[in-house]
Amino acid sequence: QNLTNGLNLSQKQTPNGTELNCKGWIQEAALRMLLNNLDPEVAECPEDLIVYGGRGKAARNKASLSLIIKALRDLENDETLLIQSGKPVAVLPTHADAPRVLISNSQLVPRWATQKHFDELEDKGLMMYGQMTAGSWIYIGSQGIVQGTYETYAALAKKHFGSSLKGKLNVTAGLGGMGGAQPLAITMNEGVCLAAEVEEWRIKKRLETRYIDEISYDIDEAIDQAVTYKNEGKAISIGVVCNAVELLQRLIERNIVPDTLTDQTSAHDPLIGYFPEGLTVAEAAELRQHNAEEYIKQAYATMAKHVKQMLELQKRGAITFDYGNNLRGRAVEAGVENAFDFPGFVPAYIRPLFCEGKGPFRWAALSGDPQDIFETDKLILELFPENESLQRWIKMAQERIAFQGLPARICWLGQGEREKAGVAFNKLVAEGKVKAPIVIGRDHLDTGSVASPNRETEAMLDGSDAVADWPVLNALMNTAGGASWVSLHHGGGVGIGYSIHAGMVIVADGTAEAEARLKRVLHNDPALGVIRHADAGYDIAQDTARKFRLGLKL
Ligand code: NAD
Repeated sequence: QNLTNGLNLSQKQTPNGTELNCKGWIQEAALRMLLNNLDPEVAECPEDLIVYGGRGKAARNKASLSLIIKALRDLENDETLLIQSGKPVAVLPTHADAPRVLISNSQLVPRWATQKHFDELEDKGLMMYGQMTAGSWIYIGSQGIVQGTYETYAALAKKHFGSSLKGKLNVTAGLGGMGGAQPLAITMNEGVCLAAEVEEWRIKKRLETRYIDEISYDIDEAIDQAVTYKNEGKAISIGVVCNAVELLQRLIERNIVPDTLTDQTSAHDPLIGYFPEGLTVAEAAELRQHNAEEYIKQAYATMAKHVKQMLELQKRGAITFDYGNNLRGRAVEAGVENAFDFPGFVPAYIRPLFCEGKGPFRWAALSGDPQDIFETDKLILELFPENESLQRWIKMAQERIAFQGLPARICWLGQGEREKAGVAFNKLVAEGKVKAPIVIGRDHLDTGSVASPNRETEAMLDGSDAVADWPVLNALMNTAGGASWVSLHHGGGVGIGYSIHAGMVIVADGTAEAEARLKRVLHNDPALGVIRHADAGYDIAQDTARKFRLGLKL
């Protein structure tokens, strides 16, 4: 196949099947996952190489993309390709068990790690923002986030509403690559979702992929409809084309208090990700291009108002939480001193899972055949019969989630479970029960791979929120263990200056060598998370560490 010329990214071009374009399955997996990240069914704006999350890209520019493709096709099984912020810079000799690709994205020396400095470097073509799984080539479309969002709302429902969101009004905003999972996750938990989104096409895209049920162009009508569904106990989602602050303003004026309230606009990126109020999409694009400073000023003003409205609705009784986009951090920068009066979703709902090494384990079928994923689903159901929420999730995912690009699946697995699944997948490949190798990875939003004080490591028990040794150790350990590609990023989720995090992908190609690597990497990767949380003093993590004999041999 001609993969290097004429990169028309509006057309699907991820290779699939059993024929190799590269000199080994690991390189082939990297090539397919890179192109899958940019598949028009998967990426938010493939023409601009933007995968998701504001300006999260898979390669720095089209020239770099062509070169990466070429380098991967030529790469030997004892060589490693180096990627510097989306640009291939070298191929160096390593060995068969070493990663085939090592990636570093958006790293800046801390004193210079500001959005402004990053923007200047990006303008000069020297850097790229990799977000999390965009620049590390393991984004799988909105499904990737659905289960995490489902887990979060399930944990919230368990804590506050007797385990279901039935008859509850859940308000949010932002229906992009990640945020688009919210309506589905809420209706899967039986609740009503009312979400504001500025860009009409985003809602339409979610309608097509069945992540949302209805679109509305009138705020009051949408509110009335949502309240009706709430009263009828119906699980239906509505996307309303408006700015988040317009929706919240009407809710406040009409004194309609949502049961839950959050937000997933791209507030981490005030220039590209967040829309100031009072501007149409076209006007915003114009202002962004011609007067970036003014745009950022207006974005900050809207974010300050947005957070004040959330605080007001929280005061009136809405269970309010930050959904990992640094909206509170931006509001503090804009002078809203009490922005952190509502909690982030990690300390509120996710940290106990991290303490058991649980996090977003995901895999994709390189064959491109959905049947291969159904085989892996069957295996997961057999491997973990005692895990009821996992059983429920896999069945629901099969019914309600449309595949985007290469068929893929996600489920949260913990210490012990991930290596068990990885080795079993490798066996499926070896026995020919699936048609081609399976690629296994995870989000950077995981137990041991991220330091992000306004999100994953907010309010750590010992105050170690900003300690970034852990994600660096994670990347080094996964390299030593022989992951297929390893990445270290800066600024994902919450923006430049706010986070350091690592990615890991490993290929199950059915060989004995792959089995040995899978055992090591899928043991060590979550282990770092358990150890990190045990070190910070969490009981659950200390128990998990004891159970799996992690840590020092004293
Ligand atoms: P995206 O850029 O693909 O989508 C953001 C959406 O927000 C866009 O559709 C945009 O039109 C909309 N938007 C921006 N400003 C708005 C406003 N004022 N009112 C209404 N709509 C507005 O980003 P994404 O991938 O969906 O991620 C969204 C945010 O969530 C990011 O900040 C990301 O870092 C964060 N995130 C959270 C998690 C998590 O688990 N909680 C995971 C990944 C990303």
